[in-house]
Amino acid sequence: MKNIIFIAPPAAGKGTQSELLCEKYGYAHISTGDLLRSVNPTSELGIEINNLMKTGSLVSDEIIFKLIEERLQKEDIKNGFILDGFPRTIKQAIAYEELVNKLNLKDYVVIYIKISENEAMNRALGRLGCTSCGKIYHKVNSKPKTEGICDVCGGSLTSRDDDNEELFKKRFVTYLEKTQPLIDYYKKANKLVEIPSNDDKYITNEMIEKVIIDD
Ligand code: AMP
Repeated sequence: MKNIIFIAPPAAGKGTQSELLCEKYGYAHISTGDLLRSVNPTSELGIEINNLMKTGSLVSDEIIFKLIEERLQKEDIKNGFILDGFPRTIKQAIAYEELVNKLNLKDYVVIYIKISENEAMNRALGRLGCTSCGKIYHKVNSKPKTEGICDVCGGSLTSRDDDNEELFKKRFVTYLEKTQPLIDYYKKANKLVEIPSNDDKYITNEMIEKVIIDD
């Protein structure tokens, strides 16, 4: 199975798709957003990260490179991994290519989830996550059985600080400026698979499964 890179606007469903594929195939889920959120918020690094995240901007490449290089040396990636939120710029894509060679990583496919700004915003504003196990819900489309409580582990559900309308719009602009150029970049490299998504019909596991099987 190929490793996977997900590219999509904020709140398009990368995290949810990653969870499903991890459960089914044993991929390791590597979300740079989660890695950043797990840095101690009172440390110097944590304060720097939070200040940037609060503005909807990207965190510096140096911080991301260090986190991702460390993460890709852990044992659990041996059965394959999903990169959710990295690379987010052309510079990061080039750095990833260097890491593939340096760490002798398997081939990968880039899955682009195409979704409109409105639909992504609707997802962001309704998104709830479990503070214990990370499972993702939606206030309207994917409710937990008991309000505010995770079905899986009983943990409490909260919204992310950056899932409000103002920050979503800033994150979307950052996405258009910095991340969208990757779509052409990976198209030219013959790595890109586009999965359309719209208000009525969302991506299914089957669509993704077709593209992760090795040739
Ligand atoms: P996410 O959880 O993927 O939506 O990421 C949340 C925030 O973390 C983003 O808005 C960025 O500020 C930061 N972030 C996550 N991944 C990266 C990355 N690869 N490069 C720079 N900043 C990132």
